[in-house]
Amino acid sequence: MPAFTGRCLCGGVQFEVTEPFERVTYCHCANCKKLSGGAGTVNARSRTDAIRILEGEDLLRTYQPPEGTLKTFCSVCGSNLFGGGWPESEHSSVRVTTLDEFDSKPTAHIFTRSVAAWETLPDDGARRY
Ligand SMILES: [Zn+2]
Ligand SMILES: [Zn+2]
Repeated sequence: MPAFTGRCLCGGVQFEVTEPFERVTYCHCANCKKLSGGAGTVNARSRTDAIRILEGEDLLRTYQPPEGTLKTFCSVCGSNLFGGGWPESEHSSVRVTTLDEFDSKPTAHIFTRSVAAWETLPDDGARRY
């Protein structure tokens, strides 16, 4: 049994994560706003080896921004799936928005200096950086 399963919006890409995540972080940075279409990304950190693509590997596209790590998307629907350098890095980020079920809260908010005027940081007790 995988610990988690996930998919993109169109369902073309399906994946599983075979072990529990190490931590969950909410990133409010400008890049994450651009790539997510929302306030940022919520990222679950995993060993890259624990992320297994079940379907749609050929649909994946990876973008290297001028600064920061690789971002991986579904080329059909645009869902942002992985970051943190996947698949080349030892550890990667899974966007929790693509997980079928996930009930953990972030333990930290990062890049809070990039919180936008239209965005409200939740008073959830998580550390802020
Ligand atoms: Zn898709
Ligand atoms: Zn970010």
